[in-house]
Amino acid sequence: MPDDNQFDFIIAGAGSAGATLASRLTENPDVSVCLLEAGPKDNKASIHTPAMIVDAVNDDTLNWHYETAPQTALNNRELYWPRGKTLGGSSSINAMIYMRGGLEDYEAWQQAGAAGWAWEDVLPFFRKSEGQQRIQDQFHGQSGPLTVSDLRHLNPLSKAFVEAGMACGLPKNDDFNGDNRLGVGPYQVTQRDGRRCSAAVAYLGKEVQARPNLTIMVETLATKIIMDGTRAVGVEVRRKGENRDLLAKREVILAGGAINSPQMLMLSGIGPAEHLTELGINVQIDLPGVGENLQDHLDTSISFTGKTSRSYAYSVQSIPKQISEAVRYLFTRQGMLTTNAAETGGFASTKGEAEPDIQFHFVPAIVAPRGEPKSRQHGITLHSYVLYPDSRGTIRLASTDPEDHPTIDPQYLTRGHDMQTQIAGAKMSLDILRAAAFDDERKAPHVPQDIPQTEAQWEAFVREKAETLFHPIGTCKMGAMGAKGDDLAVVDNQCRVFGAKGLRVVDASVMPRIVGGNTNAPTIMIAEKVADLIKASVKG
Ligand SMILES: Cc1cc2nc3c(=O)[nH]c(=O)nc-3n(C[C@H](O)[C@H](O)[C@H](O)COP(=O)(O)OP(=O)(O)OC[C@H]3O[C@@H](n4cnc5c(N)ncnc54)[C@H](O)[C@@H]3O)c2cc1C
Repeated sequence: MPDDNQFDFIIAGAGSAGATLASRLTENPDVSVCLLEAGPKDNKASIHTPAMIVDAVNDDTLNWHYETAPQTALNNRELYWPRGKTLGGSSSINAMIYMRGGLEDYEAWQQAGAAGWAWEDVLPFFRKSEGQQRIQDQFHGQSGPLTVSDLRHLNPLSKAFVEAGMACGLPKNDDFNGDNRLGVGPYQVTQRDGRRCSAAVAYLGKEVQARPNLTIMVETLATKIIMDGTRAVGVEVRRKGENRDLLAKREVILAGGAINSPQMLMLSGIGPAEHLTELGINVQIDLPGVGENLQDHLDTSISFTGKTSRSYAYSVQSIPKQISEAVRYLFTRQGMLTTNAAETGGFASTKGEAEPDIQFHFVPAIVAPRGEPKSRQHGITLHSYVLYPDSRGTIRLASTDPEDHPTIDPQYLTRGHDMQTQIAGAKMSLDILRAAAFDDERKAPHVPQDIPQTEAQWEAFVREKAETLFHPIGTCKMGAMGAKGDDLAVVDNQCRVFGAKGLRVVDASVMPRIVGGNTNAPTIMIAEKVADLIKASVKG
């Protein structure tokens, strides 16, 4: 049994990465782990019922509710950035799409200085995590804890999207996680028996939570790393207004995600010296890359109102269906309530090349803007986003109070070809939505109501309407310190913080470059791989 306040490992953050790490490390009964989570337990129905995703994202108690700094290229709009704040972190409120990105994405990591993270190095850890329900080949694992399944319910309009995409020249793709992402098709989801399979469901089940060597502290904010010189020896935490010190005999591992992990480092005096000094924080380790290299996927969506009530909406005519589907779900875990909203999608190249540069999410609905009542309007929406943006942003402290939100400045569309590709993706979306497969559904343009005719009008539309697709990464990037062009590396290829002892960052923030796809599965893969490294070192 661990002491009350002393553990081998303290993991700050129980999200996609933290839950995975805690579970794997405590497979060794001789290792004690304390897992800290700022949010509550994950026991709300909105987390576990897939179709309640909008409720989960809007639930005040499960979400950090971040807002970005005004974005100069987006008419100075401040974008809403939800992030999960509960066991499972963002995997408890995400859209459940299971996606790894391209094989070449990991070659790019390796080239960026992350030695040992090429495709052949990471594939075993994707397979280890995966409990694939359908596909059996060299890309997939069947016995991992993260259940990956086909959707149990596909709206007829989601099927129409696949037809429409094919009519626009895109191939049908039945496995976006094989050797080729190009094309359109149904997405696979992290769901088990029609319920969300978050990282907490996958890795922190009852048996794991009952391990005597695992202590999970919810509603507990990690406020600062306790340093002894350059060695991390513990974590200061705050729970219900009371502060307490927890000690780590071996390591402190930050897994707070791409916003909170750099914030925690900087609050602890690890980061760009000039910024820390400005705030009166004693510099423990001058690491200029902390909070730099912020990357995200920016989304432009096009929607049309619908002629029928086949799409999902809170309309009067759909009430009987909603009631019968709720009953069906309650008894069978089948039907409409298993939807993740973005049921189909795909990848395309705006330049006609073999490698995609945009991804689509098709939603058979019109989702109401944040703060407005749920949509009663039937319709269809196609989201598109640039897979590999050139723009880079920052996370900076706004104050030294750990309960204050840091300043998030993704600097969207400020570099390279991001705007051109964003526009090209939106135009492709329009073509797909105008295909014959939607003729009996498409009524009138909804967003935008006036279809842009000129390049300038498209640009104005993107600036006015683009939103995040919820994939921030890169703010504690992995690399080889001192290597050419890599002076912003924060962690080495084992996720150890440069200049520190006993301190790692393991979450989406260590990705050197954003992957061309959704980011949950790659984050879990990172945690699986680092857990393996740590377990080997503990044994040794
Ligand atoms: C609305 C939404 C939809 C998405 N859809 C998809 C999708 O369909 N597919 C996909 O692959 N990806 C999706 N993503 C992205 C994906 O979920 C994330 O990339 C991934 O979960 C990030 O994992 P992480 O471990 O880095 O951070 P998180 O999962 O966010 O975990 C961080 C955890 O640390 C906790 N924490 C933070 N700071 C502290 C602190 N100081 N003390 C204690 N605890 C702390 C947080 O509360 C949180 O639980 C989506 C994300 C969102 C928000």
